[in-house]
Amino acid sequence: MSFEWKKNLKRLTPYVPGEQPGAENIIKLNTNENPYPPSLGVLSAIEHFDTDSYRKYPDPEASVLTGAIARTYSVDADQVFVGVGSDDVLGMSFLTFFNGGDPVLFPDITYSFYEVWGGLYGIPFEKKSLRDDFTIDREDYTGTNGGIVIANPNAPTSISMQLYDIEYIVKNNPSSVVIIDEAYIDFGGETALPLVDRYDNVLVVRTFSKSRSMAGARIGFAVGCKELIGALCTTKFSYNSYTIDSLTIQIGAAVLADDVYFEVIRKKIIETRDWTSEKLKGMGFDVLPSDTNFLFVTKPGINAKAVFEALKKRDIYVRYFDKPRVSDYLRITIGTDEEMKKVIKVLEEIV
Ligand code: PMP
Repeated sequence: MSFEWKKNLKRLTPYVPGEQPGAENIIKLNTNENPYPPSLGVLSAIEHFDTDSYRKYPDPEASVLTGAIARTYSVDADQVFVGVGSDDVLGMSFLTFFNGGDPVLFPDITYSFYEVWGGLYGIPFEKKSLRDDFTIDREDYTGTNGGIVIANPNAPTSISMQLYDIEYIVKNNPSSVVIIDEAYIDFGGETALPLVDRYDNVLVVRTFSKSRSMAGARIGFAVGCKELIGALCTTKFSYNSYTIDSLTIQIGAAVLADDVYFEVIRKKIIETRDWTSEKLKGMGFDVLPSDTNFLFVTKPGINAKAVFEALKKRDIYVRYFDKPRVSDYLRITIGTDEEMKKVIKVLEEIV
């Protein structure tokens, strides 16, 4: 029998997320999650949650959460858009702003979801090669384009770009939307948030998944001028009005109120990252300069895939990308001090 739907099927190449193994006692350093628990504000928000409110649809504007984000980052509430993780916000942004015939530009080595959204929405894109040292050349982003996306710091390279280079790209593309994906910015690098009030074509995208230990809650947001945020809302209300559930709205706001804890775990991860980086360098690894909660490393003469497999056998999960230019590298998320000491010890044994 021939099924018409199969002929009509949209053929996609999906994003491949890192493994989420179920086994206990593994050291999981493969998806850039935070090793520390989220703020106790989560518990308190759950305790105070009025379960009767689940009868009703959530606030489609998620005003309590957008308001809390606006206060935290000193912008107006109508300059904030929230979504189900920054993936949702980024996907919605591709759908909203990248609609022309000219290609959207992003680096050849970057967050691989960008090209997946290009494929999903039929948006032409062009990948610009990073320099040999894996830095971004701002001059690659001054030609004709239908939009620009830069992860800053970039992933999986962990390297950040200077704010004046970002501003150069934003300034030189007044008729394109430039998205700055700041998933890792709390671990280093300079935020592009100050550009939002000066340029009407820049959108800064952030997440609660990494620095706020909330990957499971799925909260991401964008900050931009009112017009860009309004356009994102129009897309959202043309697709699914209720993206964030009532409890997550409260939890997100409660987590933002706890900046003391946020600072403690953020600094702790930076300290552990720098310790791990020095140890690895001492063992002969090349470690790219990281402004993130992960390290991108290689060592002359090693087979990165074999090391990745050997670590896995020892219950240590890191990330390996079998892709051009990066197939000799491993991406290692920063865990607790104990976890990183174990990683170093095991690497000393197997490398
Ligand atoms: N941007 C980058 C660069 C990332 O690495 C990730 C995490 N995979 C995301 C966005 C999406 O994160 P989330 O949807 O959890 O906010």
